[in-house]
Order: sequence, then structure tokens, then C-alpha cells
Amino acid sequence: GALPGRDDVESLVLAAHDRERDLRDGEVADYIPELATADPSLFGVAVVEVDGGTHDAGDSRHRFTIQSISKAFVYALVCAALGHEEVLERVGVNNTGLPFNSVIAVELNEGHPMNPMVNAGALATTALAPGGDPETKWAFIVDGLSAFAGRPLEVDGLVYASESATNQRNKAIARLLESYGRIEGNPLNVVDVYTRQCALLVDAHDLAVMGATLADGGVNPVTGERVVPADVCRDTLAVLAATGLYERSGEWLFEIGLPGKSGVSGGIVTVSPGKAGIGTFSPPLDPAGNSVRGQRATAFLSRSLGLNVFASA
Ligand code: GLU
Repeated sequence: GALPGRDDVESLVLAAHDRERDLRDGEVADYIPELATADPSLFGVAVVEVDGGTHDAGDSRHRFTIQSISKAFVYALVCAALGHEEVLERVGVNNTGLPFNSVIAVELNEGHPMNPMVNAGALATTALAPGGDPETKWAFIVDGLSAFAGRPLEVDGLVYASESATNQRNKAIARLLESYGRIEGNPLNVVDVYTRQCALLVDAHDLAVMGATLADGGVNPVTGERVVPADVCRDTLAVLAATGLYERSGEWLFEIGLPGKSGVSGGIVTVSPGKAGIGTFSPPLDPAGNSVRGQRATAFLSRSLGLNVFASA
């Protein structure tokens, strides 16, 4: 069925925020030093409908670095540039079941990245962005993510510098992929572009617009711009359903029944195909790296708006 009327969606978005605002569970990520400075009380919820209707509650306009959520949108852009078969073959579409920064996952799969939504697969995906040099790849990524958001996105210089100084693990993963012939060019340049993409500033409202663009077959419902083809949205959402919430992707799909992607700064984007995008932001995370309040607020919205894709009525 369709979404409820605008007023009902509006009051459910406010209720989703109200219900979870006092929750204190979870830990703010600190493995990137600059992320540890986030205020754990920040909490924003936004819904953008495919007809352009918008709903915002709490700190939905507070900006934070997109982190892993960039993986979903860079993946869509690379799928649009290279096509279904090539990305399937080179990056894969399976959940590794291992933490986002796992080196073992690469070894277990003999160098095949497997999962584009954790670091090894995301580095392999960023490496596939069109362009022979890092600046061309970067322009492709920042322009594409900005088109998804409907406004020009900018890098948080402090978070970029902080992660650049502490991302030895991602450099190791990129070198390991290189040893298996899975990254062309200089792997450290790929890590740098990836680190910049993760440091792009967004807010929960932007995430809802970006999600609504995937929900709308690739057309941004606010700007009207076509960002990617509809078949790319279908493929990206299938990957998110299997892999979007790290090693808790099964629990998420079971409870919420929608494709989503989380990141360690506390954002989650969720997509209700043909209906809406949902963006949430709250820094405290569960042990896998998923925002605690964001998961609960999204579960409430999925239930109350009737969004679970597996429900028959
Ligand atoms: N930039 C972070 C990293 O590569 C992203 C992690 C995440 O959000 O999962 O470690």
C-alpha cells in the first residue's frame, strides 16, 4: 500500500524521535580519535517521501561525517558506470559476517572482497570509480554523492586528518587486495579517496533525501535530477538488505524488513522502495557499529508506516 497521509507521517516521525530520545545505550566510536568528540545526546530523524514531502524531528540538521554510509552511494555510482556484471564479478554481493575492518575476511575469500559494504569491498569499489588519477575519481564521487543529497557536500577536514593519521588497517587491507590483484593503481591513493568520501559532511535530512533517491528509482525527489538508473537502485538495495548493518544485517532485516546502511559516526539511511527514504543520526553505537537509537527509531517507523517489504498486507 501507499504511505499514510502527510500529517500522519509527520506525527509518526515526531513520535519516533520522542520515544527514543532518552535512551542512553551504546558507545560513541573512538577508534578514529576525532569521532570520539561527538555529543552522545544528539538525535535526529528525517523522512523524505518520493513525492518530495519532508518530515524532520530533533537534530536532523546537525552535520556529521557520512563514514560507511558513503559505501552504499559510491557503490550505486560505480554500478552505473561499470554495469551489473563487472561489479558483481570484481566486488561481490555477499555478507562476510565479519567486522567492517576485517583483514581475515579478505584472506578467507582468497582476496575476493565479497562485500561492498565493509572496508575491503568498499576500497575495491572506490578503486573502480572512473578516472586514471585520484582527483578524477574524487570528483566523480563527490559530485555523485552531492547529486544524491541535492546539495554540494564538503569534507570535514578534522575528521579526514584524524582518520588519515590512524587508518593503518585500511592501508593494510588495500595492500592485501593489491597482492591479490584486486586493486589497480596505487592502493594508498585509493585509501586516501576512500577516507575523503567517509569524511563528507551530511545530516539526517540529507540521508533521507539520498535514501529517497534510491527509493525513487534513481531520481532525486527534491531536485528532480536523475542520479543513477532504476536497475542500479534495485541492485544496490538488494546488496544493502544483505549487508547494510555489518554483522547484524540479519537481525536488522528480521526486525525492520528494509534495506539500510549504517556508519560508525551514528548515521543510518533506510530505503522503502517506491515510498520514502529515512535518515537517522545518533552517535552511540551497538558493538557492531550501528546507532542504537537510529535502529529503534527506524524499527518504529517501519512498523507504524507499514514499510516491511516482506509483509503481505
Ligand atoms: N571511515 C571508516 C573506516 O574506514 C568507516 C567505517 C564505518 O563507518 O564502518 O574505518
